[in-house]
Amino acid sequence: AMRPASATPAFPALEGRHPCFSTTAEGHARSARLHLPVSPGCNIACAFCKRDFNRRDQRPGVATRLLTPDEATDIVARALELCSTLAVVGIAGPGDPLASTHALDTFALVRRRWPHLILCLSTNGLMLPAHLDAIADVGVATLTVTVNAVDPAIQAQITPKIAWQRRRLNGIEAAERLIANQLEGIKGAAERGLTVKVNTVLIPGVNDHHIGDVAAQVAAAGARLINVIALIPQHDFAHLPAPGMVMRHRARTDAAQHLKVFTHCQRCRADACGIPGVSDYTEQLYGDRLVAE
Ligand code: SF4
Ligand code: SF4
Repeated sequence: AMRPASATPAFPALEGRHPCFSTTAEGHARSARLHLPVSPGCNIACAFCKRDFNRRDQRPGVATRLLTPDEATDIVARALELCSTLAVVGIAGPGDPLASTHALDTFALVRRRWPHLILCLSTNGLMLPAHLDAIADVGVATLTVTVNAVDPAIQAQITPKIAWQRRRLNGIEAAERLIANQLEGIKGAAERGLTVKVNTVLIPGVNDHHIGDVAAQVAAAGARLINVIALIPQHDFAHLPAPGMVMRHRARTDAAQHLKVFTHCQRCRADACGIPGVSDYTEQLYGDRLVAE
């Protein structure tokens, strides 16, 4: 059965400092994180993905606007003024942070000015093996890899095509490459001392009976935590239902056989600022900037 939030932190060094790697009830509501939307493009095509720039949607893949690495450091400075508990600077889109150099460039700038901030990276994992040393060298401490399947036949339905070494790969070939890179990347990151979490989008009729297999394989590769995220039905998966409570519970129970399960995810925007589900400074961060300048 699923374990309730325990009194013992899974990651003592991160507990209360990083909301998404805190496993006690109070730990995840103590510190804030800031997402910097510096990464525009993506190198894979997930069937559920719809990226957009607006102020309205509360979901991944959406930001107010794209920032350059220099603009991103201005945003960090403003966020530190607005939000006294800011402890984590993460990059999670709106595209893939390893599909361009902007994320690593931004981390280098942030690291130089604010060495006390925890750096957090989120990626689909395709380019992770190629950038492991750069990621570790710039000081990224926490890594999230989105792994939606470890069976190529299932993965091919979720991400039908990828861009790999200047070529387009389709179907099973694309799925095999993506899964291999994700598992190799997780292993390399764990070996370099990063704390690795896996996000898995729960997709009814596609991977809902497969979550235990995903958890088993990413755990074997070195992931420490799994976050099973309910599908937001849109784009090519707009016709699917959102997973119901029974399915979500079963999937998390299956995952919990292999890994600690993170259950507080708020499916945040790529420019989120504050404590997930508690405080939100994004409007102020981007809003009064227009007035002030
Ligand atoms: Fe969208 Fe992320 Fe998939 Fe890229 S990896 S297509 S940004 S969901
Ligand atoms: Fe944390 Fe989930 Fe928000 Fe990512 S989307 S910052 S894991 S709460």
